[in-house]
Amino acid sequence: MTCYDLHTHSTASDGSLRPEEVIARAIKHGVDVLALTDHDGTEGISQAELAANDTSLSVIPGVEISVTWGSNTVHIIGLNVDKNNTKLQQGLVEIRDYRKERAVKIAERLEKSGIKGAYEGASQYASPVMLGRVHFAKFLVEAGHAKSIGDVFKRYMVRNKPGYVSGEWASLEQAVTWINGAGGQAVIAHPARYKITATKLRRLVTEFKHLGGAGIEVVSGRQHPEEINNLAKLANDFELLASRGSDFHSPDNTWVELGRIPDLPTNVTPIWQSW
Ligand code: AMP
Ligand code: MN
Ligand code: MN
Ligand code: MN
Repeated sequence: MTCYDLHTHSTASDGSLRPEEVIARAIKHGVDVLALTDHDGTEGISQAELAANDTSLSVIPGVEISVTWGSNTVHIIGLNVDKNNTKLQQGLVEIRDYRKERAVKIAERLEKSGIKGAYEGASQYASPVMLGRVHFAKFLVEAGHAKSIGDVFKRYMVRNKPGYVSGEWASLEQAVTWINGAGGQAVIAHPARYKITATKLRRLVTEFKHLGGAGIEVVSGRQHPEEINNLAKLANDFELLASRGSDFHSPDNTWVELGRIPDLPTNVTPIWQSW
């Protein structure tokens, strides 16, 4: 059976492997089709495609777009997008400009809580427009303020904590429109990870479907079997396609590996059915 992993990250966003290293590792782990879906940019795709040339692996050009929906941040994956599409790229440039502004604010807030040099520290790991919370987390661990990335998130980088800045990302409509305009398919990433009620999640899915969204991730990273069943039902209730992705970021994160995630349940329609 073909192994699909349609949600992965490289150093082009907050992953720790270069695109060609992601490809090599995916092949080693038996992945046949891999989507590189870096946050808010498609910079890594050419390198990934080059590395996959003349191998058994196919690369799907993708992106994971940061979206502000009400008071929540949600992530929308674009699969099979034309990375040369002007409107998509203009939209992504805007989001990355905001990333840079947010990084300055994050550093200011950390400074107020006694942590100096966070902007410069995080900048070791990414360019200003790609700076994200993971890069700050790496710096905070390195500087001895926390013992692990997970620890940093809990203590600094989530709502009501000193390094948290609420997002002002794209709208849901923009994200879906950009993806569809670039010939891609829009997928709600890790729907079970948002801290919203089941009712609100159904509202998100309703709006998403109405805007032209294609699918949801039914299998994502490490998940309870029960969650997979709930998401399969959600996909079917809204006649949405089902996607499958590890959300791999780094080999250090030993509980999420490329391709090593459950199969899609048999009662859903895989997003790759029409590929
Ligand atoms: P950002 O887009 O900069 O706000 O960062 C979001 C990213 O932070 C996600 O894509 C994950 O890679 C990472 N992340 C979010 N929550 C956690 C967590 N609790 N532990 C480790 N990484 C996290
Ligand atoms: Mn990430
Ligand atoms: Mn995400
Ligand atoms: Mn992701």
